[in-house]
Amino acid sequence: MITQINHIGIAVESLEATIPFYRDQLRLPLVGIEEVTDQKVRVAIFRIGEVHIELLEPTDPESPIARFLEKKGQGIHHIALQTDDIEGEIENMRSNQIEMIDVVPRPGAHGNQIAFLHPRSTGKVLTEICQHGEEQAH
Ligand code: ZN
Repeated sequence: MITQINHIGIAVESLEATIPFYRDQLRLPLVGIEEVTDQKVRVAIFRIGEVHIELLEPTDPESPIARFLEKKGQGIHHIALQTDDIEGEIENMRSNQIEMIDVVPRPGAHGNQIAFLHPRSTGKVLTEICQHGEEQAH
């Protein structure tokens, strides 16, 4: 079951240049900064209520975020919907001919398991489903 928005992913050229707006101007708590090697990004995670905003900075020119920045510039990259059963959700999507980028969940930021749906199947919005990792205590 999809339960809520988990996070909104925003592509940025530089975390250092972007963090001050969220931290100092919007005064959102910075949960942490971590590297997700699988996606070749550094992620700054802000909390706003139950939802996170993830600022995504590429660590490699081959990163999908680097290619996004080249094509479209900075901006909203994806929306992530939280599920309590990512495997079941993938199964369900596929049986309804929804095209998945990831048919097997992979590690995301904050200990999440994530899978992307293809924008061809979602009205052009890059959509991620994610499930809290086992180590996620909060
Ligand atoms: Zn995400």
